[in-house]
Amino acid sequence: MTTAERETLFNESINALKKTGVRITPQRRAVLKFMIDADNHPTADEVYKALSPEHPGMSVATIYNNLKVLKNTGIIKELTYGDASSRFDFNSDKHYHIMCSSCGKITDFHFKGLEAVEELAANSTDFSITHHRLELYGLCKECKQAED
Ligand SMILES: [Zn+2]
Ligand SMILES: [Zn+2]
Repeated sequence: MTTAERETLFNESINALKKTGVRITPQRRAVLKFMIDADNHPTADEVYKALSPEHPGMSVATIYNNLKVLKNTGIIKELTYGDASSRFDFNSDKHYHIMCSSCGKITDFHFKGLEAVEELAANSTDFSITHHRLELYGLCKECKQAED
């Protein structure tokens, strides 16, 4: 993404937040900006560690609360993994995740053909499909090399 594209996303997200009547605080702007720039699906704790030097007044609870607000507005997605802490992802285009079973890194990938799965499921079960979740697991490049 270019800087201009990130800026457009930022402004669009701020407008979406304003429409829901949410107050735009400096913390909220900082969390939003961080999430647009992040490509590593951070946990609330990681967002906190990254932002706390510049925003010493922020607690993990503030970060978490801000992430929830962004989630409720549909700006970011929460990825839950059983009892492990949630990760957050800026909700740009539709994509899938592959997770490293050794270091926990999550990487995006795109695969258009999977949209047909929803149609197939709808036709064969009479459900109306709202969404689906698909995750792949394996070893990332770094962990693969470490094993050799
Ligand atoms: Zn790994
Ligand atoms: Zn993602």
